[in-house]
Amino acid sequence: MKKILEVNNLSVSFKSHNGEVQAVRDVSFDLHEQETLAIVGESGSGKSVTVQSIMRLIAMPPGEIKSGSVLLNGEDLVKKTEKEMEQIRGNEMGMIFQDPMTSLNPTMKIGRQITEGLIKHQNLSKKVAHEKGVELLRLVGIPNPETRINQYPHEFSGGMRQRAMIAIALSCNPKILIADEPTTALDVTIQAQILNLLKDLQVQTNTAIILITHDLGVVANAAHRVAVMYGGKVVEKGTVDEIFYQPKHPYTWGLLGSMPKLNDDTEELQSIPGTPPDLKDPPKGCPFAARCPYAMKVCDQHMPAYTESSSTQKTACWLLDERAPKVKPPESIFAGGGQING
Ligand code: SF4
Repeated sequence: MKKILEVNNLSVSFKSHNGEVQAVRDVSFDLHEQETLAIVGESGSGKSVTVQSIMRLIAMPPGEIKSGSVLLNGEDLVKKTEKEMEQIRGNEMGMIFQDPMTSLNPTMKIGRQITEGLIKHQNLSKKVAHEKGVELLRLVGIPNPETRINQYPHEFSGGMRQRAMIAIALSCNPKILIADEPTTALDVTIQAQILNLLKDLQVQTNTAIILITHDLGVVANAAHRVAVMYGGKVVEKGTVDEIFYQPKHPYTWGLLGSMPKLNDDTEELQSIPGTPPDLKDPPKGCPFAARCPYAMKVCDQHMPAYTESSSTQKTACWLLDERAPKVKPPESIFAGGGQING
């Protein structure tokens, strides 16, 4: 598949009242047509800032892209003017958020919110845009779309509002759909429906998806590749199979260990002890060192380079250095959790 997005060495900082937060540090990944890339990490790992930077939604104070490039079909979005970005956001990239109520306008009918972009970016007449709006609501599985298009967001359930958000994001046939924690606010059944919907829509529309989530469990059936972020950095990336069955980074082990296991009926989930680093003064070495049970002296002093375990898997950890002690991932992280059903 053709590469459509290439993020190279992206670094993004925020000004806060007590210093500059280095939220994204030297992040690189790519995205291919019809592919879903999941970016996974705890809150504060830099995953949302990364995708907002791709959309250039933070590209003015207090957020600033310090260095790096974001190539969309070879063109660097970092160098685009705000006017050019408006066009790109309308035509090439769509975004859906965790809480549709914060992005849907409560005072405007769903239909108008879908058709506005169609009229503005695709020059459709009101009538044709309305017809396309009905078609889009049908595509995302909203029953009676002819009636629903004339309703307000508060008349929709949480799951339907998320479906409406997806319809709006897809209205201009974007090449890339960015979904930032799209199912976190929903109950488990609706979560599964929305993830299945995204998968089905990807097949129908050929859109590439970047899925942001703090929950590795969500990506098992929804993504093709995974980038694991911690402390503003991508610490490991690989295919879904590599991340679930051959994870190499202790933080990925921790995330896998904190997923509910199918054969474990205890209520308590293991969490990773400790807290993420303060990115106002990021660690010199590995960002996970303070929480890592395998940390060595070198980990505090020097950031590990990426080691390639395959053409698709890269891991930044000193344990992969040939001089390091041989450490295996804990058996418990594979005990029945994270089953991949294709
Ligand atoms: Fe742990 Fe060191 Fe690897 Fe970081 S580099 S994850 S501290 S072993």
